[in-house]
Amino acid sequence: MNDSAFQPSAPTPSPLPGLDPRHGAMLAEMGVNVWWRPETPASAPNALHTESAPVTARARLAPVAPPAVVPVAAPSVPLAVPTAPAALLTRPQRAVPLPATPVTATIQRPQAAVVPLLPAVAGDHVALDAAIRTCNACDLGARRRHAVPGMGDPAPDWLVVGEAPGEEEDRQGLPFVGRAGQLLDRMLAAMDLSRERKVYIANVIKCRPPHNRNPDPVEIAQCEPYLLRQVELLRPRIILAMGRFAAHTLLAHSPAFNPETLRQLPLGKLRGRVHTVHLDGRTLPLIVTYHPAYLLRSPAEKAKSWADLCLALETFEHLPDRA
Ligand code: URA
Repeated sequence: MNDSAFQPSAPTPSPLPGLDPRHGAMLAEMGVNVWWRPETPASAPNALHTESAPVTARARLAPVAPPAVVPVAAPSVPLAVPTAPAALLTRPQRAVPLPATPVTATIQRPQAAVVPLLPAVAGDHVALDAAIRTCNACDLGARRRHAVPGMGDPAPDWLVVGEAPGEEEDRQGLPFVGRAGQLLDRMLAAMDLSRERKVYIANVIKCRPPHNRNPDPVEIAQCEPYLLRQVELLRPRIILAMGRFAAHTLLAHSPAFNPETLRQLPLGKLRGRVHTVHLDGRTLPLIVTYHPAYLLRSPAEKAKSWADLCLALETFEHLPDRA
């Protein structure tokens, strides 16, 4: 797979039996190649295969032994020949949160003091954005060109949370406007969403760390009140946490995790399930997936991310109507 696999394309009806048009479109948008075994016995449900690790596409799809997989040339969609053993598409389980496992490794804690931001986060959207754009609570404030509060629908269903602004975001003052942002836009389009409609995009920290280094724990702790206030003001119905910094920051508000152990859990152990977080006095579903920048570096993981997006959509579809 390469970047050409990410060219925007209009959702087309899936040529694959057992895969509905939206899921077919999502696969295409994310550059996930699918092979179909033609001689599925009548008694066996349909089976799909991708070149990546197992993800579940539909509950009724059953396992088929990898050696039996034959690439199928569907007339309307060119399907690539697999370069690695095909793996099964399986839908991730609806979530039972991970048990908090004891971990003995040393936890990194913020060393520097975190400056209280209470007055700064008390206002409405406009006041909050202004407070973020003028914040100097940590050292990142002095280095940025622009802080990046976020952008999107002011009354969104979805809150998408990334890590931190990069160079282009710092230049423009907008989130996800570089290459990773282009991929995010295609992922949202495949979900029939966009950054202008039903979605708000924010980051864990609002200013670019120098040389795009990872945010440090003090910076995250310092900036967290802004993200929490955004959740209060935006009142999203579901959260998509992209990457481990978003996952760790938001899952600290899940009763299923011990904060001491959460930071030790890699993203692969957090994705593929529906979490619940307690924010703003509400219980919100949260899905973790890979950060788009990581997907650009590791395209084989797109299939798993696609499965996460399917799980997120399915979760959203089952939510009660907004009160
Ligand atoms: N990566 C992020 O996490 N956020 C952005 O806004 C851009 C890139």
